[in-house]
Amino acid sequence: MATLTFWLLFVAFAGAFAAQVARRVQLIAAAPNTFSLDNLPFRVQRFVRDVMFQVQTIRERPVTGLMHAFVFWGFVAFAGYTSVEFLYGLGIVDLTRTAWFEAYRAALTPFAIAVLVGIIYLLIRRGLVRPIALGAHVSIESIAIGLLISTLMFTFLLTFSLAEGTTTAAVNWWVHMLVILAFMALIPASKHFHLVLSPITVFLKSPELGNLPNLDFEQEQVGLETVKDLGSKSVLDAFTCVECGRCQVNCPAWGAGKALNPKTIVLQTQDALLANQRDRKLGEVYTEDVLWQCTTCGACENQCPVGIEHLPILVGSRRGLVSNGDAPGYLGSMYNNLERRSNIWGLGYDQRTKFVQAAGLETFDLAKHDVLVWLGCAGSFDADFQKSLRSLFEILRAGNVRFGVLAKEKCNGDPAKRTGNEYMYQELATANIEDLKAAGAKKILTSCPHCVKTIGSDYRKFGYEVEVVHTSVFVEELTRGGASERGPSGRSATLSGVRSIVTFHDPCYLGRYGGKVDEPRALIARFGGEIKEPVRNRDNPYCCGAGGGLLFADKEEEPGSRISDVRFKQLRETGAGTVVTACPFCSIMLKGAQASAGADTQFVDLMTFVKDRL
Ligand code: SF4
Ligand code: SF4
Repeated sequence: MATLTFWLLFVAFAGAFAAQVARRVQLIAAAPNTFSLDNLPFRVQRFVRDVMFQVQTIRERPVTGLMHAFVFWGFVAFAGYTSVEFLYGLGIVDLTRTAWFEAYRAALTPFAIAVLVGIIYLLIRRGLVRPIALGAHVSIESIAIGLLISTLMFTFLLTFSLAEGTTTAAVNWWVHMLVILAFMALIPASKHFHLVLSPITVFLKSPELGNLPNLDFEQEQVGLETVKDLGSKSVLDAFTCVECGRCQVNCPAWGAGKALNPKTIVLQTQDALLANQRDRKLGEVYTEDVLWQCTTCGACENQCPVGIEHLPILVGSRRGLVSNGDAPGYLGSMYNNLERRSNIWGLGYDQRTKFVQAAGLETFDLAKHDVLVWLGCAGSFDADFQKSLRSLFEILRAGNVRFGVLAKEKCNGDPAKRTGNEYMYQELATANIEDLKAAGAKKILTSCPHCVKTIGSDYRKFGYEVEVVHTSVFVEELTRGGASERGPSGRSATLSGVRSIVTFHDPCYLGRYGGKVDEPRALIARFGGEIKEPVRNRDNPYCCGAGGGLLFADKEEEPGSRISDVRFKQLRETGAGTVVTACPFCSIMLKGAQASAGADTQFVDLMTFVKDRL
């Protein structure tokens, strides 16, 4: 009788679970396939690190992350126990009396205690502490799931003190099993479905941050226009979000008070999918204004503990808008500049030629030169940044590095790509690749982190592979064993012998995308700087606000504060009077913020900082 009752309950609850899962699987299967398994060794390594050892979860929020890890490890450890109890309850086989099961059961005790500690901590955090990342309202669903998990652990621990065969032991068993059945029926429609899906999403997450595959125009791909265009990985991501808000609190747009919230983007995707709004325009789902507020800084993807990728949705939707002629006006002017003059400011290339001649630069020749220096739009036209490049050239000449530049360069295409103008990006990229191939460059050196990312990484999607190095990395290696060895007492020396107090602003495309955080710091320290670190730094910097085409946006019309103002305030709060920068666009944005604030903060590009102390 008991077995039959358990069978009936199992069929009802498992059926509810299966129906909800099937609905989600159907939506994933109906989406265009964007799953990829490239770079398997990296994926396996990340799976071990971030799923099995929960490193990503623990890294940013050590206590909360560890408590969450306790629950996860307990969930995995109890899988065998639960299966055996189900086999017993369904009358299939009774393994509960075997010696190995007894030993396994005993070994689960510390896991049960750890899960209880973890879940009580998480319940208090959610119900009482309520950090902003979790949203304004207490989630009743989370509290209920937390209580169910606690009940599971209590009933498990009680089995050690209840005599077998007694009514109390039987009631305890039924409560335990009913909770599991209820859990099964509840989780697919809740954020706790991430327990099942997150190992898959972490494994399937692209090894490349902000991965934006090229559109195939021959296949008439135009980007994402409606809900049904969302790729299978984005659909899977939408059902995996645990609503932790890590993407939200790390998003510079949200931090500056704008409407964009990457967590909301994922949840809006989920709602639209479950409401079967397949033909609804993505510009309506997310609103167009919000889609243009993203700087593509990558913080959301980088911080997400369950492998969710926001940029394919955000930039993919921009592509759809651009293909329909719905880009904002300021981008229209920039596209016009790129189309007519192949650079973001629409200036004549005679200006670049004048700079190249005045700086005494040779045209790159593989037989004569070790590296090709890529100037980029800023290096070609921005007088301020050209000072930095002159410093770089002095450093290279002092280090006997033989270098040359291309006779002509076009914009690498980053502003077109990240704002969704894929056609223009591909035109610029293929033209540059042709020129770089013709020049035979094996190693490219550039002071622009966006050029590093685009030429060094994005151009690979056209089959062009070349080593692209940021100048901070190259010059750090070049000067290693130089200035630091000359300083007294093993510390770096300055001309005056006094160390300068500075702060360093990590560019997103260098620190977060490129992972180059030690080299700029080593250079600053080697050449007499003492760094006061700002609140967001290294591989999780706060964006300057220029990326994703926002360099060109009309700042006065933006809602909220300017991202650059928020970052400038953070840098000022370090107390350092000098900000060292390593990206032309960060420099432009932060100097703009300084002017608005009327502050007397000094800015110096990293290459000039080094050159002045050589
Ligand atoms: S890429 Fe940066 S700006 Fe865009 S949504 Fe993510 S965190 Fe926000
Ligand atoms: S997208 Fe990722 S980081 Fe953002 S709320 Fe969801 S799980 Fe958390």
